[in-house]
Amino acid sequence: MMTTNSPQYDAAEVARAWPRNENGELMVGSMPLSQAVGRAGGTPCYLYDRAAIERRVAYLRALLGNRIDLHYAIKANPMPALVCHLSRLVDGFDVASGQELGVALDAGMAVADISFAGPGKQEAELMRGLAAGILFNVESLRELQALATMSEATGYAARVALRVNLPFEAKSSSMKMSGGPRQFGIDAEQVPAVLKELAAMELRFEGFHLFAGSQNLKAQPLIEAQSLSYGLVMSWADLLPRTPRILNMGGGFGIPYAPNDKALDLVPVTDHLNALSEKLARDMPGARMAIELGRYLVGEAGLYVSRVIERKVSRGQTFLIVDGGMHQHLAASGNFGQVIRRNYPVSMGCLRKEQETVNVVGPLCTPLDLLADGVEMDRATAGDLFVVFQSGAYGRSASPRDFLGHPDVREALI
Ligand SMILES: *Cc1c(COP(=O)(O)O)cnc(C)c1O
Repeated sequence: MMTTNSPQYDAAEVARAWPRNENGELMVGSMPLSQAVGRAGGTPCYLYDRAAIERRVAYLRALLGNRIDLHYAIKANPMPALVCHLSRLVDGFDVASGQELGVALDAGMAVADISFAGPGKQEAELMRGLAAGILFNVESLRELQALATMSEATGYAARVALRVNLPFEAKSSSMKMSGGPRQFGIDAEQVPAVLKELAAMELRFEGFHLFAGSQNLKAQPLIEAQSLSYGLVMSWADLLPRTPRILNMGGGFGIPYAPNDKALDLVPVTDHLNALSEKLARDMPGARMAIELGRYLVGEAGLYVSRVIERKVSRGQTFLIVDGGMHQHLAASGNFGQVIRRNYPVSMGCLRKEQETVNVVGPLCTPLDLLADGVEMDRATAGDLFVVFQSGAYGRSASPRDFLGHPDVREALI
């Protein structure tokens, strides 16, 4: 992970810059790749580098003032051991299902610092969160009313923040989650009326959740979204039942996946957030600002590793058929919401004298099972390890693992 020294690197540099030992073999933490794979129990596997996650958090901490809390969005990678590791590094967790809530609680994060977002929260999820005492990022009046009813019945006042469907979108986010009609959050226009209802309910109002979009590599749209979000909250200042405890400003910090994707220049974004948090200390004393990041914290710390089963030449093109594929890494195959399929950064585990251009495919009986399309790599033979970088987020949990009935993928935190 090259975060600290070259903030504007290109995705194409990722594979070249990853550390290798004197034999040219990729390193994972302090271990050669083949040893790390052995430790994981074999291929295919996801390997997550603990130290790389620590470095990423330290880099963010150095840029974020101490007025801003750093949360991890578990959706990006819910592996329990990884979540446990992060519980000691970040200030809070954001969950988006009852199961993720269980992982967050088991990892030992303080309930005060766990929040639960997501549309259509079900009765059992609301009950579970209420019993635990976590903060709900409420997405509709229906959720608010259900929580009020449960709070009355149990005698515990649910902690609630309003998730707002912002009246703008974060331009350049590849997944837009606000602006226009959305299933997420409460439309900003309806927030004043909802605040009025909330004031009459037995609920503990704690703030706002303002998430504009995901996978953004441009600083300026992120800064604009933060400014607009902040202004919106301030426009409601006189309607609030109490001073908010938290303004969750979202995140959306992207990482470079495809050739020509340039890493986000974080400094202007954090400078702006720091300025806003200073302003918040004056405008709403007692309120804290938080950001919630998923892939930015863990995406670059993960490798997806498979083994070449067969080299096959078909009408002049070379195919490496590996033991992993789209059923375990849907995003790398280009089928996880991407409009255009572009290769992730990839390489062979070991360097060889010769290079060649190949297609890397998995064992599934579908042409969608493509991990790399026409890439130049070190010449591979059966048994060699093939690596997909930038694979620490939206990997195993975001893939259709039952498709074609192959065994599940292993995971290890190294
Ligand atoms: C998905 C999601 C995140 C994490 O997004 P990343 O792009 O992984 O940072 C954060 N917050 C909410 C509300 C989300 O839905």
